[in-house]
This record gives sequence, C-alpha cells and structure tokens, in this order.
Amino acid sequence: MSTFQAPKGTYDLTPPRSATFLAVREAIAAPLRDSGYGYIETPGFENVELFARGVGESTDIVTKEMYTLTTRGGDQLALRPEGTASVLRAALEANLHKAGNLPVKLWYSGSYYRYERPQAGRYRHFSQVGAEAIGTEDPVLDAELIILADQAYRSLGLRQFRILLNSLGDKGCRPVYREALQTFLRDLDLDEETRRRIEINPLRVLDDKRADVQKQLTDAPKLRDYLCDACKAYHEEVRALLTAAGVAFEDDEKLVRGLDYYTRTTFEFVHDGLGAQSAVGGGGRYDGLSEMIGGPELPSVGWALGVDRTVLALEAEGIELDLPYTTSVYAVPLGEEARRVLFGVVTGLRRAGIAADFAFGGRGLKGAMKSANRSGARYTLVAGERDLAEGVVQLKDMESGEQSAVPLTEVAAELTKRLG
Ligand code: ATP
Ligand code: MG
Repeated sequence: MSTFQAPKGTYDLTPPRSATFLAVREAIAAPLRDSGYGYIETPGFENVELFARGVGESTDIVTKEMYTLTTRGGDQLALRPEGTASVLRAALEANLHKAGNLPVKLWYSGSYYRYERPQAGRYRHFSQVGAEAIGTEDPVLDAELIILADQAYRSLGLRQFRILLNSLGDKGCRPVYREALQTFLRDLDLDEETRRRIEINPLRVLDDKRADVQKQLTDAPKLRDYLCDACKAYHEEVRALLTAAGVAFEDDEKLVRGLDYYTRTTFEFVHDGLGAQSAVGGGGRYDGLSEMIGGPELPSVGWALGVDRTVLALEAEGIELDLPYTTSVYAVPLGEEARRVLFGVVTGLRRAGIAADFAFGGRGLKGAMKSANRSGARYTLVAGERDLAEGVVQLKDMESGEQSAVPLTEVAAELTKRLG
C-alpha cells in the first residue's frame, strides 16, 4: 500500500472538485436557513448506546456498519453512522424542546462513518446535510421538509430524481401489521439471519435487496391496508400538500428504510443516473425516537441528503455548477522592491473586500502570468522598478487585454469601481 493512499472506502476532496462539494452543501443548507432552521453541530462520535437504542439493534447500520471503539478510560464509543440520533440527543441535553418554541428546527452538515463494502457511491466515510424538526406532529411540517429538499435539488439543476413516499403507520396500527407480516414471512424460504430479522424487525425484510427474497414478497400483506384512520388521514394530508406545492412523488408501499425509528411519513429521494446506489437522500417521521433514547414524547420529522451521491448525480446529469472564480485580482511583482509594495497593495485590497492573490516566490513574468491566468482573476497588477519610480502599477484587464497605468494610491478605488 502506498504511503499516500487514503484508507479503504474513503477519498479526499481536493481542488477543483472540492469546490463543487462546498457548493452542494451550501445549496442544500440555503433553503433550510431561509425557513427557520438553526445550525447544530454535534461530536463525530457518541456513546455506542445512543445508536444501539436509537437507530435500532437489528439494523445493518448497528449490527454490521458501525465503527465502535473502547477508549483508554473504558468508554464504548461509536463514530456516528447517521445524524438524527445525535441531533435529538443534543436537543434534549440542551433542553431546546422546553424553550416554548416547537418545533425545534435544526440543520446540520458533517461526516458520517459506516463500515460498508466500498463501491461507487458507497463509502466508509461520507458526508450528509440534514434537517430535523423536533416536537411537532403536523403534516405541514412533513411537507415542508420534502419541499425544501426538492427545492435544494432543483436549485442545483438536478431533474432526474424522484421522490418515493410511504407511511409506516404509528404505534397503534403498525404492531397489527407487524404481526400479519411476521405470519406471512415465517412461511417463506429464507436464510437464518433473515429469519432472525423477522422476529426483531420484520419490516426490514421488505427492504431486502436480493432478487430471490423480493420474488417471495410479492404477496406480502401491505401496510397500506392496515393503516388506522388517523394515519391514513395524516398521510393523505401530506400527499395533498405536496401536490398543491407542485412537488411530484410516487407512492411506494415497499419503502421502509434502514432505520428502526421511522413512523408514518417516510420518503426517499432516488436518482436514476446512479446505478445501484440510487438513493441520494431519505428521511421521515420518527415519533418514537425520543422515547427510545430515554426522552419525553417528541414527535419529529427529518431527512438527510448524501453530499457524495448528490455530486455524483450532478455528474450523471452532466451539470457543471456555475462556480465563480474566487480570485478577482492577481498581483505580479517584478523585483524585490515591487514584491514589498505589491504585497502591501494586495493586503489593502483584501481588507477592502476584494479577493486578491499574489505571485509568490519571485518567479519570472512568464510563469507568474500563467498563474494569473489559471487563477481566473479578472485583473492583474504588474509592477517593476520603473513603475514604482513613477508611483504606478500596470492594471491589466484579462478579458479585453487592455492595460493602463494606475497611481498606487488609487488602485483600490479603481478596482472597487471596476469590479462593481
Ligand atoms: P442505502 O440504502 O444506499 O444504504 P441508506 O438508507 O443507508 O442508503 P440513509 O441512512 O438514509 O441511507 O442516509 C441518507 C443518505 O446518505 C443516503 O441517501 C445516501 O445518499 C447517503 N449515504 C448513506 N450511506 C452512504 C455511504 N456509505 N456512502 C455514501 N453515501 C451514503
Ligand atoms: Mg445503507
């Protein structure tokens, strides 16, 4: 293994592609910030207990994918595999739900870790932007979150994504369905592990990706037929609100998702250009999660969108984000004295809010102009001994090629004017 190889299943973000990642995070966060969601940041690891109880003992995430570790002090920790349990834990710890301002609306952005079999779009370290609305049961809130995710994807120019929607029922009707499903599943030809899953979390069996399992599930009882009237009405309301907002969705009665905490509304954003790893984001209502981790009853809803797969989706649709060059002015000094003077000019420009960069290392004019070109700067400033003697710098418009001498004292004002 090369010394410079990132660990298996991980990759680095380097320029210029890293700029796209930042822009994607920003595009997902912007509609949330504009809709009353406050930023939250939690540690990269938690007590393992939180995920075991929150995400669910029978989920792949907890049984197979979690990175766990024992500290020197004997604490059992896990690198966070997802965001919701941590955010809810942090909200409870800070008593945000008691501030008399429900729902508590939060958004986050960060790294997540799952020990998975690495493949295109599936990594051991990946990045999500997520949103949680804690403490309120209101179909408008479910609709708001789905609409904001849709808005975020559309603002990036994405079009080939679909929204899959389902209801998982609540603590009244879901157990009845669960039993009916278990009765059905116990008669199927399934492996040991799946049989165990039937007893712990039978709904997860519906999510099995294997074709031979899916074939046997054709006649499985449908959750839709077991939803109580309240859940049905709630779901119809969410559907109607999405339709009224012009957000297209597909009803998918098999959609269960890989976490135990979901109730009622569940949804997934899938992109058709990504092959097997088609889910770019997902979420839903988790009315029971707070109680599962030892908190009060706090009906909540949220989602997480995968940044890595969203970038892959952009590439699949051939979308190049219009990312403006970050440098506006590039300074090229010719000689020692010019170096000091032009660096002073650059510092002044930066303080005036103009993005400026500098040809470091005393390079010749040709090499320095190459760097100026590569920086995408609209203007270059060149100064040699003769310019300094006259108290000017040469200001060149890189688009028109026009060049003029500008007095040193007026450079900042001139550039501010020209850059608008
Ligand atoms: P999948 O079914 O593909 O395993 P998931 O249901 O486990 O996805 P979630 O836990 O809902 O995914 O996470 C939300 C989003 O985070 C996913 O839609 C995906 O975009 C992203 N994501 C999840 N796991 C990974 C991973 N291992 N690598 C890259 N992105 C991931
Ligand atoms: Mg997964």
